[in-house]
Amino acid sequence: MPELPEIEVVGRLISEATTSWRVRSSRVPAANTLKSFDPPLDSLNGRAIQGITRRGKHLLIAFEGDLYALLHLMSAGRLQIYPKRAAPRDRTSRLLLELEDGRELRLREFGTRQLAWVRILHGRYLERDEALATLGPEAWPDPPPFGELLNHPRWLNSVLRDQSVIAGIGRSWADEILHAARLSPFKRGKDLTEVQAAELREATVAILGRAIDHYLQVLSIPIPDKLPMPLQVHRRLGSPCPRCAEALHAVHFEDYEMCYCPQCQTGGKILKDRRLSRLLK
Ligand SMILES: [Zn+2]
Repeated sequence: MPELPEIEVVGRLISEATTSWRVRSSRVPAANTLKSFDPPLDSLNGRAIQGITRRGKHLLIAFEGDLYALLHLMSAGRLQIYPKRAAPRDRTSRLLLELEDGRELRLREFGTRQLAWVRILHGRYLERDEALATLGPEAWPDPPPFGELLNHPRWLNSVLRDQSVIAGIGRSWADEILHAARLSPFKRGKDLTEVQAAELREATVAILGRAIDHYLQVLSIPIPDKLPMPLQVHRRLGSPCPRCAEALHAVHFEDYEMCYCPQCQTGGKILKDRRLSRLLK
């Protein structure tokens, strides 16, 4: 589940490894991964990579001549660089950019669904791209004050993950951030006090920054398929809370669970969980 810290570090590492190298050939083995048709994919051939940056949960590869590849890895995508004569491409391959030295930049996607996507864009259309134009301010390193930003009737776990409100946070880091700020995931954005809004902003910057530092220490090329996410709360149902040692609880949704500490976040209250109440019947 790559989110802001994972995308940031993968982008930096691959940028360092590929900048100024030219693309020899480009392919999209899964044709529906490419969500644009003009300029065509092969217009990247012969162009040097100028760098890779992150926008929210997107990666942006800049090529000489003002061309860009905008990538979204969705929940199961990976961007990796393979050495010359590396293991053969497999069914996870979505976009393949062979570099002039024989290495290959691969967008891969695990699982059965094809959700990761790529668009090739001219620089002049970049800011108008629907994915980028709708992004809220970056959650890290310096987001605007949260009081106004999160002033929303929806609950915090949902508002923090809304990319048009604030860009970069998903399910994993939302759990970690709300735990660090000692706030209930079901508190409404508009009910934050000034102090809580300030503390939540501080927790967001600190937690994401710490995760980035962690990855910079433990990751290098080749980037592993499974990133060592330093999570303490998310997907830790039943584990002791890292702050108070009480057992962490969770609320289950159709395809994910939201973890929290009742002691630290909800004033001791156990939130209603449909799955749990069904099991207890
Ligand atoms: Zn706790």
